[in-house]
Amino acid sequence: MSDMASFNNIPLETHSAPRDLTPLQENGERAVFCGLTSIIWLHRKIQDAFFLVVGSRTCAHLIQSAAGVMIFAEPRFATAILQERDLAGLADCHEELDRVVAQILQRRPQLRNLFLVGSCPSEVIKLDLENAAQRLNSQYGGRVRFFDYSGSGIETTFTQGEDSCLSRLVPFMPTDSSQEPRLLVAGTLPDIVEDQFKRLFSELGIETVDFLPARSLDELPPVGKQTQLLLAQPYLGQTARALIGRGASLLQAPYPLGAEGTLQWLRAAARSFSVSEERFEQVTRAPLARARHALALQRKRLEGKRVCFLPDSQLEIPLARFLQRECGAELLEIGTPYFDRQILESEINLLPEDTRVVEGQQLNNQLDRVRAAQPDLTVCGLGIANPLEAEGLRTKWSIELMFSPIQGFEQAGDLAELFCRPLVRNERLAV
Ligand code: SF4
Repeated sequence: MSDMASFNNIPLETHSAPRDLTPLQENGERAVFCGLTSIIWLHRKIQDAFFLVVGSRTCAHLIQSAAGVMIFAEPRFATAILQERDLAGLADCHEELDRVVAQILQRRPQLRNLFLVGSCPSEVIKLDLENAAQRLNSQYGGRVRFFDYSGSGIETTFTQGEDSCLSRLVPFMPTDSSQEPRLLVAGTLPDIVEDQFKRLFSELGIETVDFLPARSLDELPPVGKQTQLLLAQPYLGQTARALIGRGASLLQAPYPLGAEGTLQWLRAAARSFSVSEERFEQVTRAPLARARHALALQRKRLEGKRVCFLPDSQLEIPLARFLQRECGAELLEIGTPYFDRQILESEINLLPEDTRVVEGQQLNNQLDRVRAAQPDLTVCGLGIANPLEAEGLRTKWSIELMFSPIQGFEQAGDLAELFCRPLVRNERLAV
């Protein structure tokens, strides 16, 4: 059997016909972070941007504590705090905002790009940040570019902050009117992972590759009818639709999590650029073998483990697919905050027929199901993990997966290892 034909006897091709998976729906109390959280990884990635949150003291505390790990780095984020007077409509918020922006630019004259990030309070008082960004753009005459997006936690989850941010960049991307196809990879990837993918694409002969977001906002990639769009993150529905609206074609592929996901993700790009199967196999053979080897070591711990996902990061479906197919875990339930069929089609085709997928959240009901099922591992938000741990259940914080390099062949073993850690800790405690 060829290396490319199977992974631990699991076929590597998706089902040819799309699966008709309809998730169960739940509505009610939710426990998720808001979109402001995404500033942490966006600010690391986009190295010449400043993020100004227009929010309350709560927003400032969230950003400060979530970003506390970066205390040694010069922060490129701040909060313009809306006071009671603003909320009561007694002050002109736009004047206040202009004052804070002027202060930031005075302190950082080299700043070229500034995001105004909306929050629940700014949304509640209907502060028009789009208008504010336009006004500031003309006020500063192109010396500084202003963008706006919402990181509000009203009916959203934290990865939507990135979706909202990237989708707001799409109108500023130059139009590509060339006749040559270009690959556009959308979704924030750690620099190390981006470089690995760039090398692989180059070895495949795909040289015209852009990433959104790029490390600098001065390098916004072009988009047009020749753009082949490959999503690197499974929560960018709004961004994908905005890019499709500018002419891009969306490549359907599983996400680059695990050996299988990465292989199929690369294959989707290779096919759209007419790379021969032979060359594809040649380029991917060695990294695929390394990924398989690393996974085999972790699989021993995860095989047969019963896993439950609570809705949080929107990475749940690709991660569950990875755990089930490549690590031998049993899926009890996959909760996801939102289910976007357009960008998850290839993933759902890889799930077992009877997988229980739940969209939305009714926290108490979900916790009741977790307690009744007593899974070996529950992947969930930070706020839910501690109480479950106190009840003797092992948990994995889903947000940790956002801050770790997990995509690609070289990270496949590390990804599995992240899920093994709570199990190993449990064994040690038992001893
Ligand atoms: Fe809280 Fe909303 Fe501010 Fe997020 S945006 S910290 S949910 S008030």
